[in-house]
Amino acid sequence: MASKIRAKPARTAARRSSHGKPVMIVTGGSRGIGAAVARLAGRQGWRVVVNYRTEKKAADRVAGAIRRAGSEAIVVQGDVGSESDVVALFKAADKAFGRLDALVNNAGIVGTPSRVDELPARQLRRLLDINVTGCFMCAREAIRRMSTRHGGRGGGIVNISSAAARLGGPGEWVHYAASKGAIDTMTIGLGREVAAEGIRVNAVRPGLIDTDIHATAGLPDRVARLGPTVPMGRAGTAEEVATAILWLLSKEASYVTSSIMDISGGR
Ligand code: NAP
Repeated sequence: MASKIRAKPARTAARRSSHGKPVMIVTGGSRGIGAAVARLAGRQGWRVVVNYRTEKKAADRVAGAIRRAGSEAIVVQGDVGSESDVVALFKAADKAFGRLDALVNNAGIVGTPSRVDELPARQLRRLLDINVTGCFMCAREAIRRMSTRHGGRGGGIVNISSAAARLGGPGEWVHYAASKGAIDTMTIGLGREVAAEGIRVNAVRPGLIDTDIHATAGLPDRVARLGPTVPMGRAGTAEEVATAILWLLSKEASYVTSSIMDISGGR
């Protein structure tokens, strides 16, 4: 009996679709966690829409790696903080592949570190536009295509939250932490809203991950400084986060929805 219920590798599951290879949109797929997700998805047989905002060369490198792995990829410029860019991103995916099976709501910024009593409203609004409104707009477009309520065949959404949602980001970025708290709440509510429509919605909460995001925020030594304070004694890698995201989108996670998975080395 045990052998009959042995889990199949995600690669096989992804390639079994009767309508060709499944399609995934990764926002912010040019660098860091998004790039690791896009590359791994390509290796597992997904066709990937690699969104980026400014770093076209980096996005092209990710798309190249996906093609070398034997799958297909397109690169689409767009700012997830802009509704018209989000709509155009999904239309580009429609045009290229004609179907959508997964969204990884990854694009995000931490902004400039700031105490709340020094935080300019303009900076706060920009962060919320990207980290919260952008996630909602992308989810809206994905649901319109994937929900059985709209004639779709179902699918999966993974939102990228942060351990900051639990830790609060004092002295650095309470604003960023709060934006990720919104993503946690959205994941729970949206997962339940579309659970009967064939869509699973989950989130990962990465801890300290070694990507460009810290240097971009003006804190290039942050990973080296905080790594030893993590219970596991080190920062995580983008690939370690990507593995969990791909699992959440696989058939192996078929009963998992509205869940938030910490990937934080115990932090
Ligand atoms: P990263 O290395 O700075 O990469 C950010 C990616 O997002 C890039 O591909 C960038 O595109 C894209 N991007 C930024 N703003 C965008 C916008 N407005 N529209 C479209 N794309 C945009 O960041 P990361 O560390 O991989 O972070 C990815 C996600 O994980 C974020 O949501 C972040 O909050 C979350 N996270 C990260 C950590 C960590 O320690 N690294 C921990 C917890 C959560 P360009 O290349 O074109 O600039």
